[in-house]
Amino acid sequence: MSLPRENWTGKRVTVMGLGRFGGGVGATRWLVAQGAIVTVSDRAPASELRESLAQLRGLDVKVHLGGHVEADFVDCDLVVVNPAVPFDSPYLALARRAGVALTTEVNLFLARCPAPVVGVTGSAGKSTTTAMIGAILARRRTTHVGGNIGGSLLNSLDAIAPEDAVVLELSSFQLAYLPLLGKSPHVAVVTNLQPNHLDRHASMEEYASAKMNIFRYQRPDDVLILNREDPALRAWKEAAPGRVVLFGADDEPFDLSVPGRHNQANAQAAWAAARQLGVSRADAQQALACFSGLPHRLQLAAERDGVRYVNDSKATSPAETLVALESFPEQRPVVIVGGYDKQIDLSGLCRTLAQRAKAVVATGQTGEAIARGVEAASSSGQGPRVVRAGEFEAAVRAAMDLAQPGDLVLLSPACASYGQFRNFEERGEAFARLVRSG
Ligand code: ADP
Repeated sequence: MSLPRENWTGKRVTVMGLGRFGGGVGATRWLVAQGAIVTVSDRAPASELRESLAQLRGLDVKVHLGGHVEADFVDCDLVVVNPAVPFDSPYLALARRAGVALTTEVNLFLARCPAPVVGVTGSAGKSTTTAMIGAILARRRTTHVGGNIGGSLLNSLDAIAPEDAVVLELSSFQLAYLPLLGKSPHVAVVTNLQPNHLDRHASMEEYASAKMNIFRYQRPDDVLILNREDPALRAWKEAAPGRVVLFGADDEPFDLSVPGRHNQANAQAAWAAARQLGVSRADAQQALACFSGLPHRLQLAAERDGVRYVNDSKATSPAETLVALESFPEQRPVVIVGGYDKQIDLSGLCRTLAQRAKAVVATGQTGEAIARGVEAASSSGQGPRVVRAGEFEAAVRAAMDLAQPGDLVLLSPACASYGQFRNFEERGEAFARLVRSG
């Protein structure tokens, strides 16, 4: 079965996974506008999808919630898969066996986008680098920023001209489905590669392999931009079909408004990418100087009674929390850590917390393991105070009680928020609310 390209009238399409991040809604709206007959299927009940469902109001679509119906994957022409759905889902197997084509919202967009596309992936720094590239390119061209950073660009296709630029943040989940399309962005940026999402990817090799799709289908005149400081990325140079450009945090520095060496690395990656589309260094410097960072990434939430409260809720892996600690080398912060267990090794983080933190407040599913790890790593009795606070609010209150004037309280959980919150934004907002209200 060939994938319907521009004539969608009467085609039966199942959107598998409406989700909450905009991709499912974007795909559904676009398919309906093309004339397709759309069924939306989601395992989750309506109560968990309220906001997404509200955005479908008025659209003529069938909605099957609270579980999938086999017929939706067999009696149709195409399934648009939410990247959160594992590759080995039995429903996808059913569709494949029935000869039904599979695609994703990102693939639909990439197949039709008339402008050059810069794709950004990596374990950390994707959103920041994507936003920086967007800010730099916007000085000279109409620039469209989307993908994992927030929202589908499918419905903007009509507004995208060939001379514009598109910047897409691409997660490993989105990239895992790129082989279905066999196309990679013209400029591919990989910020770094650390263990992440090992609950979903079977191994580090599979995770790396999904990330490599960002350049696997590039042409000889395309460009792959790699972090030269990351040993895991060195071998990728050999595999690149196009030109390879390297960057590093110690390249000629930019004046930045955002803290930390990691943001210098992000700026260098952004410059390396933007210059491929003809931007001058002066333009890049001007755009970067004005870039004030994204919410929930080392964001100052409040300053009260001489204590600074920094919201780094976006830190959902140990590597990100280590970066946060490095960004404040002069300080021994009170750190709130813990959350959903992604089965990442937390021992390195515990050792660093034992050396660097004034106090560790452990919360969530991984809280007990982190508390024990920090205590074990500070056997000399010199380690930080360790507080076990199961609930998030109790953790924030404990951190506020521990902080003295001049201290820094850092929410940098090293873990995802699932189980306690819907997402890291909600967790960061809860933190900000609590520390502001005192
Ligand atoms: P992503 O989109 O990949 O999750 P973000 O740009 O949202 O990354 O940044 C999230 C967190 O990751 C930041 O708060 C910071 O702690 C860490 N981080 C950002 N950039 C880098 C980098 N280049 N190297 C290592 N860690 C980084």
